[in-house]
Amino acid sequence: MKYLLKKIVPNTILKAYRAYRKNNKPYNGKGVVCPICSSKFKYFGSYGVFPRGNAKCYTCGALERDRLLWKYFHEKVSFFTKNVKGKVLHFAPEKVFYQLFDTNKNIEYVPCDLTPERFLFNGKSQIIKANITNIPFEDNTYDFIICNHVLEHIPDDALAMSELYRVMKKGGQGIFQVPINYDLELTYEDFSITTPEGREKAFGQKDHVRWYGLDYKTKLEAAGFKVYIDEYVKSFTSKELKKYGLISTELIYNCSK
Ligand SMILES: [Zn+2]
Repeated sequence: MKYLLKKIVPNTILKAYRAYRKNNKPYNGKGVVCPICSSKFKYFGSYGVFPRGNAKCYTCGALERDRLLWKYFHEKVSFFTKNVKGKVLHFAPEKVFYQLFDTNKNIEYVPCDLTPERFLFNGKSQIIKANITNIPFEDNTYDFIICNHVLEHIPDDALAMSELYRVMKKGGQGIFQVPINYDLELTYEDFSITTPEGREKAFGQKDHVRWYGLDYKTKLEAAGFKVYIDEYVKSFTSKELKKYGLISTELIYNCSK
């Protein structure tokens, strides 16, 4: 059909039609700006199992949590603020962060995942196959580790956390974000729930195995980490939160060794 259209409709008309479509998207506007790709929209797109509005960037696909971390990395992490050199390990690499780290000359970057074939970014760093409960690297190797929204998928998360601790250098730092239900004192797990439907109902997503509660910090500490819960998001005014599409309650779990 597309081919047929191309044959019978003159190029100039097709071009004009595409430009018209682009200029008349309902979300066109300047109400929000993505700090990652600088695109401006009236609002961000909706996203999630139970879709929430103002979440996903129409251009780069970044979510609220990605935009917050992007700002955080640029304002708080020494690779960017002080130009220091170091080794970075990144689990389940988000494309926007892959591009950020892959192109930074100070960083020796190792992106990895259990299923690397899901990530085809065509950058210079290859995605290494790695199981987070048995990380294929030596002790005390990495200065910085990023592991965002991974641990809620891992049945033995305590083992994963101890592996993250093992491969981190002394003095190293890690950002380990997970979805947290702040109404729960204790993390909710039930390994008798195994179906995708059951998990979605119990844990909010088909491939999640738990809802973390307020004890997430204690779990990280049990693995050996010093945990600083950074209320960085509070440094934004309500106007800025709206402008960048950030979640005002999102805390950053900054772990060090
Ligand atoms: Zn964007």
